Amino acid sequence: MLIAGNWKMNLDMSTARQLAGSIRSSLEDPGPVEVVLCAPFVYLDAVYGLVHGSPISVGAQNMHAEDAGAYTGEISASMLRSVGCSHVILGHSERRQYFGETDKSVRDKVVQAVRHGLVPVVCVGELLDERDKGEAEAVVARQVRGALEGVAYPGRGKLVIAYEPVWAIGTGRTASPEQAQAMHAHIRTELSGLFSEGDAARIDILYGGSMKPANADDLLSQPDINGGLIGGASLEAAPFLSIVRAAMRADRP
Ligand code: PEP
Repeated sequence: MLIAGNWKMNLDMSTARQLAGSIRSSLEDPGPVEVVLCAPFVYLDAVYGLVHGSPISVGAQNMHAEDAGAYTGEISASMLRSVGCSHVILGHSERRQYFGETDKSVRDKVVQAVRHGLVPVVCVGELLDERDKGEAEAVVARQVRGALEGVAYPGRGKLVIAYEPVWAIGTGRTASPEQAQAMHAHIRTELSGLFSEGDAARIDILYGGSMKPANADDLLSQPDINGGLIGGASLEAAPFLSIVRAAMRADRP
């Protein structure tokens, strides 16, 4: 199980430090549940400094696919590693929607992240219109293949998928546990076509989209839901920790 907070473009340095500090000080031993804080680039170093030595890891929300060079304003995988990041969110729907990310650009970033030992958290998910037209499974399958086709299996725990139906992100509207489970099982089938069945069975597939303390137990108890990518509810320590505790209750081998 993995619970990752996606802080998006929120907080200032002082509130980011407070949030990381209070999550660290209030988190009891999460056991096998991995906890990752995905902070804005400018806070990564500070957040790493605050959680280093605890069970909490740090992730970024995006990166560039090249190693270095004339890419003004961009951040590379090695830069992320150098400030303590272990994870990076790639292909979030907001990046696809507002910044022109495509399956191809996501794949290039996945390859680069893996090459540098970062765990890519690859986001996939359909629009409401696509779900209404009965296209959700085809869209998500295309995104999974587009991001991972030809990528060698990086090893256990080194690749994470996040299913985030776009209509559920930040809307307060959550996929039902049954809807989410059905899509997660579909994603796992796609993964077993790309990697081996055994490897696919062990890839964590997170659910994201208005997960909160009130619905976390039901979502996380589904057999193919291996954690959550949490937006709004990760911006305060109490709801985020309550979701981490739901993951601890639901954790299974
Ligand atoms: C997200 O954007 O990754 C997300 C899941 O947001 P929220 O929890 O606010 O829906």
